Parts: sequence; structure tokens; C-alpha cells
Amino acid sequence: MTTSAETWPPRYDPAYRPAADAEHWAPALECMDPAARERVILARLRAQVRWAWERSPFYRRRWTQAGVSPDTLESLADLRRFPVVRKEDLRAAQAAAPPFGDYLCIEPHEVARIHGTSGTTGRPTVFGVRRDDWERIGEAHARILWGAGVRPGDTVLIASFFSLYLGSWGALKGCERLGATAFPFGAGVPGQTLMAVQWARDLRPSGFYGTPSYALHLAETARREGVDPHDLGFRILFFSGEPGAGIPATKRLIEETFGGICVDMGSMAEMTPWMTNGECRFRTGMHLWQDIVYTEVCDPETWQPLPYGAEGTPVYTHLERTSQPMIRLVSGDLARWTDAPCPCGRTYPRLPDGLYGRIDDMLIVRGENIYPSAIEDVLRACEGFGGEFRVVVSRKETMDELLVQAEHAAGLADPAAQTRLAARMKERLRARLGVTPIVELLAEGTLPRTEFKARRVIDDRDLYHRGLDGGARRPTT
Ligand SMILES: [Zn+2]
Repeated sequence: MTTSAETWPPRYDPAYRPAADAEHWAPALECMDPAARERVILARLRAQVRWAWERSPFYRRRWTQAGVSPDTLESLADLRRFPVVRKEDLRAAQAAAPPFGDYLCIEPHEVARIHGTSGTTGRPTVFGVRRDDWERIGEAHARILWGAGVRPGDTVLIASFFSLYLGSWGALKGCERLGATAFPFGAGVPGQTLMAVQWARDLRPSGFYGTPSYALHLAETARREGVDPHDLGFRILFFSGEPGAGIPATKRLIEETFGGICVDMGSMAEMTPWMTNGECRFRTGMHLWQDIVYTEVCDPETWQPLPYGAEGTPVYTHLERTSQPMIRLVSGDLARWTDAPCPCGRTYPRLPDGLYGRIDDMLIVRGENIYPSAIEDVLRACEGFGGEFRVVVSRKETMDELLVQAEHAAGLADPAAQTRLAARMKERLRARLGVTPIVELLAEGTLPRTEFKARRVIDDRDLYHRGLDGGARRPTT
């Protein structure tokens, strides 16, 4: 698939496609002995780092200060000597050298596509992507979607925003490169969810891409229209943008709701191809496709890689990016990693529990560490739960109070049954979290639905309202 190992950036044959019954798109790379893979990664990493060193004042300045250069990389382990990059460093670089920042490693006129973040946490970040990078993004996404089971005969409904949200465009590019039929439907226009139900019922696309909360909203809308979500025909649903597809109860709920498999994917927009955290069809947790983006799960204070089995934050490094390469970008997500084998035969490490929280998303309530994803997991496993919830943490005098507002299913009208449900939720939450919450039941449909990423946490103890996707946050340091 690639030309020689010496060619960097790698060039992929745009006409290549495996046989439809092949498990792997690039078996030689995906099932490689991990030690041999490290040599492939090191060769790519050296070329990537030299590319940035020669073209980016941003990296040259930071690496010189840290006393490292491309010559530092004698082994893969030497990467840990390079300083990490945080999102705020990128924003500052773009403020000082607009619009792309001094980590743009191509001429501005070579930028073929501009994307960006919506800037909900402050200054938006601008992505400039050269044409060759965009083609490689498509190649990577096609390869990873293949691993999830998508094939050229599939039609994929892409039901997420087609504006600044890069996830939609990456999914589209990957589907096109793979040879599937892409249906870039979008989201966010009033009435569009109902239209999505009608279109899906008529066209029966076999694939779905969006956020987990939007998929569940789509299912609710379908049922209201008298359409069983099974009849929409989705065989494979793949997700990014939220942790839900990696939360066991949410994953199960999506699979039961639609009758298809729920595949968790996603790293960061800056890292696109973002699917390099991506599950295979066996759904054992996201594989880290290390020869495309090299990921280290690091200690969030020292930024040194942790052994398999440990919990830390993923730190990402591009290996084939010419335009705005990221070398050791801190995600701020929380994950555990393992190198235990997967039935698919890929030898990549995995994040068996997905990305289940944020370093700065964790709530400390009465001394216990609480992740919103754990609350979601408990509630979704309770029969009678109505689909949406909100967590409010406040301080009554000196005591933290955890209020969980949860909807009950529309059919649960009997007050006695509601009381039993609230008691069951409270007991299960207490057992899981180590803190006794107050559970308040609400009628189904009370809480706002989202077409994008849900915001479910309100922390009233300080000025910050923290949401799952990065509402204003405290600095992580
Ligand atoms: Zn696998």
C-alpha cells in the first residue's frame, strides 16, 4: 500500500481496496509484530519531527528550550523528552501569528481546506490542511472504518453538523475513499431530525455516524412518529465527539435500540484523522492505530508514558502530517490502556474503557472522584430511565450535595413505581460512586435534547459550568 519505508510522507495508492471479505485493509501494518512496528513508527517519527523542526518556529523554539532536536530521536522512547503541546499553546500561537499560527509547516497558499473549532472555550482554533494531508486522512479513515466492518456496499448516513465540526468531514472523506455510499445529511436545522427519520426509513442506510446522544434523540423522534428504530436499517453505528459509545450501558442501549453494532471512535479535531482511536467490529475498546498517529498514555503531571494497565491521559503525535503537525499534543482525556490481544488480530494497543472522562471533568464530591460517564452508565442500566439526565453539584453550608435529575420513561405514570425507580437509582449510584446522591425524577422530555454534544454537568460550587465537551474549564495545570 505504501511505497518504500524511506518515503515520507507516505504515499498511498488511491485505487487500492482490499477484497470485501478481507478483515483488514492493511494487514501487514495492522497485524505487525509490535517491535517491528516500533521501527516503522520511529522512521516516520524522525521524518515528521525533522519536517516540523525545519519549517516551524513554534516547534524549533520549544524544542531548543527543552534541549531536544530531531537528532535526539535515537529510539521511540526518546520522544518522551520532547515537551508536550497544550491546546492553549496553539491558541496563543494563532493569536500571535494569525490565522494558522507559526506551527503551519506549509506555505499559506498551499492550504487546500480550512476547518476550525467552534471556539466555545475561547478563541477558535484554525486548521489549515494541505491537499495531500486530506487524502491521507481519507486513507486512514477508510482503513479504520473497514476495521469497523463498513464495506463498499454500505450507505452511511452522516447525521452531524457540516460546518466547523471536523468529525463530519472526516467521516465523509473516509466513506468516500472506502467506496461506500455517503449520505452527508447533517444536523442542527429545525425539523431535521424528523427528516432524518423519514429519509432513513425510505433509504435504509446501513451505516450511521453522529454523536451517541444524537442517535438516541433520533430514536426517540422515530418512536414518536411510530417508526421502530430497528426499521431504519443501521447495521453499523459509529461515533465520536462524546464518550457515550464507550460507556457500556450506553453502548448496549444503542445496540438494542437500533439492532446494529455501536462502534466507539475519536481523538481530537487537531489530530484528524481522529479515528486513529477506533474500535474494530469486535468492540473491545478503541485500538490505537499507532503507525498513523502515535499515542502515549501519560502521567498527567510528568507527561511520561505509563505502562500498559495504567490510567492516564493520551498524548498524540502525528506521523504523516505536512500542514499543522501535532507533536505530543495533550488530550486531557482519561483512559486506561492495554496490549492484551483482540480477536480481530490487530496488534495495536487498546483503550478498553474508551475515553471515560476528562482530567478536569472529574468532580470531587465529598472526597470521592466522580465521572459523569459513571453516572450515565448507572442510569442507562436502570429500567424505566427516560433517556436524559443532569448532574448538579452544589455546596450546602460546608457539605457538597450531588443532585441527579433523571427522566423517567413516559410509560411510568404510577407514582409508586416512580418512587421505586428513584430509590433504585439512588442505591445503584451510591454503590458505584461512594456518595449518596439526591435523585429527582422528571417527566420524559423535560431536559433539553441535543443535536450535538450533551452538556449534563452543572457545578455550582464555583463560577465554572463544566460540560462533557469542554464548556469553560479550569486550566488543567
Ligand atoms: Zn480489534
